Amino acid sequence: METRPQKVKPHHKLRPLTPRRKFLLLIAVVAVIAVIYAVVDPAERFMPKCLVHELTGYQCPGCGSQRMLHALLHGDLQGAWHFNPALLVSLPLILAMVVLEIYRSRFPRLYAALYSLPSVIVMLTAIIVWTIVRNL
Ligand SMILES: [Zn+2]
Repeated sequence: METRPQKVKPHHKLRPLTPRRKFLLLIAVVAVIAVIYAVVDPAERFMPKCLVHELTGYQCPGCGSQRMLHALLHGDLQGAWHFNPALLVSLPLILAMVVLEIYRSRFPRLYAALYSLPSVIVMLTAIIVWTIVRNL
């Protein structure tokens, strides 16, 4: 007697997130991060240390990000600039990239331009230059 393979039904299927739900998820994640960095001062409390800085003594491109966010969330723009000016300047671009990732079907040309090879090369070059400059 031959038995046919039975299809196993998953208990529940995860539906793909709609752009609206992705956007709401993004807002929730940003809100949680904002509350954490507004309440916790990374300079005073235990927060994850940078592995690159711990091992090499050099600052990576992201060093000072937590203190920068904390300063920024307290309206201290000068302090935010002091801790990581490159990240401070890049924040609008980073937010735009995340939002564009969610709404890529609505803005396909902008998405393609932002994630194009020349654009990625410019961003990587900027990160490398920033890493060198901040360690001079
Ligand atoms: Zn670092």
